[in-house]
This record gives sequence, structure tokens and C-alpha cells, in this order.
Amino acid sequence: MELTKGQRNFDVLVIGSGIAGLSAAVAAATSGAQVAIIERANEEEYGGNTRWTEAYFRMKSEAEVSDDFEERLISNAGDNLDPNIVEAMGGEYASWPPYVKAHGMPDPELVFALSSHAAPTVAWLRTFGIRFDTLPTYFVTAAAPRLMPVGGGLAMIEALLVQAKKLNVDVFYETTARQLARANSEGDLSLQTTGRDGDALAFTASSVIVASGGFQGNPEMMTRYLGQAAKFVRPVARGGYYNKGEGIQMALAAGAAPAGDFGSYHAEPLDPRSGATEALVMNFSYGVLVNMLGKRFVDEAPGPVDVHYDHISRAFGEQPKGRVYVVFDKSIDDVPNWKRSIRTDQPAIQADTLEALAEACELPVDAFMKTIDAYNAACPEGRFSPLEVDGLATQGLDIPKSNWSRPIKTGPFFAYPIIPGICFTYGGVKTNKSGQVIDADGRPIPGLYAAGEAAGLYYQVYTGATSVMRGAVFGKIAGEHAAARAAARQA
Ligand SMILES: Cc1cc2nc3c(=O)[nH]c(=O)nc-3n(C[C@H](O)[C@H](O)[C@H](O)COP(=O)(O)OP(=O)(O)OC[C@H]3O[C@@H](n4cnc5c(N)ncnc54)[C@H](O)[C@@H]3O)c2cc1C
Repeated sequence: MELTKGQRNFDVLVIGSGIAGLSAAVAAATSGAQVAIIERANEEEYGGNTRWTEAYFRMKSEAEVSDDFEERLISNAGDNLDPNIVEAMGGEYASWPPYVKAHGMPDPELVFALSSHAAPTVAWLRTFGIRFDTLPTYFVTAAAPRLMPVGGGLAMIEALLVQAKKLNVDVFYETTARQLARANSEGDLSLQTTGRDGDALAFTASSVIVASGGFQGNPEMMTRYLGQAAKFVRPVARGGYYNKGEGIQMALAAGAAPAGDFGSYHAEPLDPRSGATEALVMNFSYGVLVNMLGKRFVDEAPGPVDVHYDHISRAFGEQPKGRVYVVFDKSIDDVPNWKRSIRTDQPAIQADTLEALAEACELPVDAFMKTIDAYNAACPEGRFSPLEVDGLATQGLDIPKSNWSRPIKTGPFFAYPIIPGICFTYGGVKTNKSGQVIDADGRPIPGLYAAGEAAGLYYQVYTGATSVMRGAVFGKIAGEHAAARAAARQA
């Protein structure tokens, strides 16, 4: 293929330079492809969400994923599945009817591909100097183990970028992908972008890998898919603002089937007063949550906090003003290392009496006191065991608290405001286990791939510590597949 004026031609074009994009680019270039990355951010800010994450991996060790890995991802499908689809998915992929291949639900093909490629992908990442360790996390109670790269997501993208440069990958910073089309009858794709000065730059390639994240940085898409709660939600770190959903929109316009829960997102509890990265307030297992009406609205402690913080935080967005308070007292000091669960740089609101605390939080005092009195009266006798699910459940409340229920009565009293932060959106495009984008009729779209947040995988509740991993796993797979496609077409 010849370059025409103003056009650039590569074997593989990768949109985005987070974990998914850089894994794809390095894998494709290692396989001998000529690769370019199109990245909207500048050289200081590239990497989207990955730049800001600690990048926990749901793994027991570098060799093994957590025991609950597949079961958790699949069970996120919920209870209302069509038995015909479940039955079809139990058979060989080749025998799935087209409507099943295109269907958006937890896809066992993808879940098992993710778990089986996790360890080899960690080993592959290690070859670029990325080291993994088990370090303390912000979860005081946890159902699953977590491994993490030393230096977090930033260390990963820096190491992968060094490798990409060694392999002569071209990176076009401050260049935003906007439109995708079939370039010619030979099966190439063309990508229209807007460059640094707002000028149009066109690219062609044998394959395009969409790794441009979700749409958490796009208020229009957020409102379209998440509804009114979207106005209360903000990204947990700056990287989220770069992910505006163009990659997903382009792929859908090219015929991709949607996948992932478009109406939901991965939520974290954030202190609205803080501008710090991931300003978490995650100690609500040991207190109560009240809304701006002074009322409880959720079970604060159904089990280990790492299993439940996602859906509890999402519930904040349905409360008046999208803001709630966690209320606790001095007895929280009985919980070893509870301060690990607090990442905000703002202090707790403190008062000597509960009434004064309510006033300081601008909560209706009478309603608030009624809530606390009812909660205190419902707390059982029994042994408080802060680091394990202790079954200390309230008795007789319409909205129970299932564990760690102790009366809030020992001053001083404390509160933090909390809002729902968004880590990433769940909605994306359907892919197969080779990272190919699947169309609405269950067929791979030739030359089109997606990985990371752009590829829909999650439904209802996020299976924690799997998003960086899926970016690396499916980015690498997509890069290798795309490079093989280019090589086959050149042969
Ligand atoms: C603070 C924080 C903590 C987290 N903790 C964890 C954790 O512990 N474990 C875990 O698994 N996950 C965690 N996550 C989620 C995880 O980090 C992300 O889901 C994952 O890194 C996303 O990778 P990605 O490559 O798909 O997208 P990103 O890393 O977001 O990269 C997308 C890239 O695409 C670029 N881009 C976007 N649109 C365009 C366009 N139109 N044209 C060109 N470029 C474009 C962006 O600038 C960006 O560089 C966390 C996220 C955050 C923010």
C-alpha cells in the first residue's frame, strides 16, 4: 500500500496508550508489525486511568488467579438469565448461534481466557522489568488476595513505552481518533484523527485496536447511559477525563455488538472535598451511612468490604444530592489499621455530641438522631471481630447492617462526606477471546480489535482487581492477532 499525501500507513494502529494499548502495541511490534499509537493526551499525561491506578491484580501469586476468579465474574450476570442462552454458552463456541455470540452477558469464553492468560501475561510483563509484590491494600477486610506491580500502573506504562520505543512503535501524542471506515476492498481500515493543531490526520492500517478506555470523561454519554445519577459522579482520578468514548462509538458505528453493562459503572467512595487522586473513604463497615435526609439507605457491611464497596458506592448516586455521610465514633480505634481505608487528604468532621455532628454536616438533626437511636437500639450483644465477617447484625431494622454493628455512642463523633466516584464505565463492545470485535450477527469484524475498558466485560458488580489485568491480557492477545493478520496479508 502506498502512502498518499497527508496519510500514514501502518500494519497495526492502536488507539490509546494505557495498559491495553501499550500491551497491544508491544505485542504487535514484537511479532514484527509496524505499529503506531494514536494518543489524545500529551507526553506528560498519556496512559489514561492506568497512569493513576495502583493496579491490583486478583491473584494469589504470579502463577495463580484468586480461587473465586471465574465464579465471581460469571455470577455478576445476576439471576434473570435466559436459560436458552446459558445452555448454548455451555457448548463449544463454534456451535453458539449468532445471536448468542453477539449477546452482551458475562461470556465464559472471555472469563476463562482471562484467567488462563493472567499468569503468562504477568510473566511477559516481568520481562520488561515490571516487578510484582503483595503489599497492604486499602481494604481492611478482603475476600480475595491482591498482587500489584511495584510502582503501580505508572510503572507499567513507563516500562511498556520504553519497550515500544525500542521496537520502533510511533506514538502520535495529542492526536484524537474520531472516525473509522473501511479504506479499500483489500480489507484495510482508515482512521480519521484530529492532530495537535486541530488539523485532520488520516491513517490506514491492516488492523485497528481500540484501547481508548470507557466514556467516564464524556458527560453526554454518561447521562445517556447512566441517567440522572451521572451528574453526581466524577472520575476518581484525572486520567478518566481523557476517556470520552469515541473508540466505543466508532466501533459501534462500524457494526460492533455492544457488551458490558451500559447502565452501570465501577464506583468508589470519594470525599467530595478532596482533589487528590482516589480520595477514598472506605471505613463504612464500622459505622453507618446516612443520606442528606439523615436516613440510612443501605446495608453498610454485607461482608468483606472489597466485595461490596462497588455497589454500596453506586447507591450514593441515588440519594438526594448524590452525597452521603459515614458516621462513626472513637471506638473505631479498635479496628487495627482502619486508617488504611481513608485516602482523602481532608480531615473528618468532628464533634463532641451527635447533635453537633449533624449540625456540622448540615443534616436534619431530629431525623438524624432518630436514625442513630434506632440503629443503636438494634445493635446486638456479641463479640466484635473487626478483621473477619463477625455476623454482628442489627436486629429488627428495615435496612439491616449485617456485620460489625456496634452502637455509636462513644464520643468524639466523626463523619466524612462521600460521593460516588467513577473508576470506569462497563459498557463497551463485544469481543472474542482473540480480541476481535464481534458484530451484531456474531461475526468478527475483519481487522477490528478492542481491549481494556473499551471492550465490555462487566455486569452489575465489578469483580475487583481485574481491569488492569484484562487490559494487559486482551491487549497482548489482540496485538499478536493483529500482527499475524498483517503478516498473513503480506505473504
Ligand atoms: C485511581 C484508580 C485506581 C484503580 N485501581 C485499579 C486496581 O487496583 N486494579 C484494577 O484492575 N483496576 C483499577 N482501576 C481501573 C483500571 O486502572 C483501568 O480500568 C485500566 O487501567 C484501563 O486501562 P485501558 O488501557 O483500557 O484504559 P486507559 O488506561 O484509561 O487508557 C486509555 C487511553 O486512551 C486514550 N484515549 C481516549 N480516547 C482517545 C481517542 N479518541 N483518541 C486517542 N486516544 C484516546 C486516553 O488518553 C488514554 O491514554 C483503577 C482506576 C483508577 C483511576
